[in-house]
Amino acid sequence: MKCRACGADRFGLIVDLGFTPAADGFLSAAQLDVPELTFPLRLCRCVECGFFQLDHVVAPEILYQSDYPYESSITQTGLLHWRGMAERIVTRFGLGEKDLAVDIGSNVGVLLRAFQDRGLRVQGVDPAPNIVEIAVKGGIDTECAFFGREAVERILSSKGKARVVTGTNVFAHVADLNALVDAVQALLTDDGVFVIEAPHACTLFEHLEYDTIYHEHLSYISLTPLMAFFERHDMSVIDVEQLPIHGGSLRIYVGKGRHAPSANVGTLLARERLMLAADGELVTSFAGRVEANRASLSWLLHSLKHEGKRLVAVSAPAKGMTLLNYAGIGRNLLDFVTEKSKLKVGRFTPGGHIRVVPDSELLEQRPDYALLLAWNFADEIMKNLDAYRRAGGRFIVPIPEPRIVS
Ligand SMILES: [Zn+2]
Repeated sequence: MKCRACGADRFGLIVDLGFTPAADGFLSAAQLDVPELTFPLRLCRCVECGFFQLDHVVAPEILYQSDYPYESSITQTGLLHWRGMAERIVTRFGLGEKDLAVDIGSNVGVLLRAFQDRGLRVQGVDPAPNIVEIAVKGGIDTECAFFGREAVERILSSKGKARVVTGTNVFAHVADLNALVDAVQALLTDDGVFVIEAPHACTLFEHLEYDTIYHEHLSYISLTPLMAFFERHDMSVIDVEQLPIHGGSLRIYVGKGRHAPSANVGTLLARERLMLAADGELVTSFAGRVEANRASLSWLLHSLKHEGKRLVAVSAPAKGMTLLNYAGIGRNLLDFVTEKSKLKVGRFTPGGHIRVVPDSELLEQRPDYALLLAWNFADEIMKNLDAYRRAGGRFIVPIPEPRIVS
């Protein structure tokens, strides 16, 4: 294994979450009797540059199957986020009607729609055929492909260069970051900007968000190693913003050639020096804190079950699967998992084989406790399911400390 940012090959182990199946590998009833593939899930840190990455890469064909069940347009919080992002980029970089915006891993096209509504030309690129179909039906021109040199050549010949290329939660998913950035370089105009959004490694350690570790997330982004990484690609970081989405993310603006970084960049680099040092308390204590969380969550659920309570989980995001599988929570403890996405309902969770049902089941069945797997949308979900709470139901928020919300 080589460091994705600097190419070095010496790593320190941060945490070992055991062997788990692909987090988006929701199963049909027929698949329940077939052996399920599992893969090692270990987070490491590059000794040379401090980049955080998994040491085992699962083949993209396994992770991103044709029926990949993620749709980005589901939550209101997410919708507002993408609109705000488009607005900010358009205003800040003075984008106009002729400009092209390309989104890598564009999903159903929520971000591109926001650019399109502001008059820009748009092009999406996404590898999942069923998702691309939804995007195209919705009027967002989307190419079904993995983003790379070939896709870029096709875009260049049909639409020309892009003023903005966005990659939200893509930077963490790609195995060959060098090839990705070379392709972005070729696609961008000289005054173009590459905007990345990714969960921040500081948040992972600070708030114990170990459930955000799963096989699709190959890298855990911090700014420090990326400064040198982009310089090697003749690009530079212009600015960075810290966002509350997904518990705490970075939005990094990168331009071609040399740019003077903003004050935000210096502030964040200083924070990372304090928080992400290899021998710092936050990093060295992480594995122990993760294990303690598993023990207390498992104890809580088992005790409630022992008292005869009925337990379920609400929403089935990919990260919820890390939590459930690492903690050994399956249908032994949970009667079902509710989910809004029609692509997941009717299937079973990977590993634990818990039945996925529509949200309405929560009110019909009225279980005693509902484990909130999408804790980053906890407020919105609890508000939407207020009827359940008013009828006496209680929520369990698992992270950073398991707690009951009644
Ligand atoms: Zn490195």
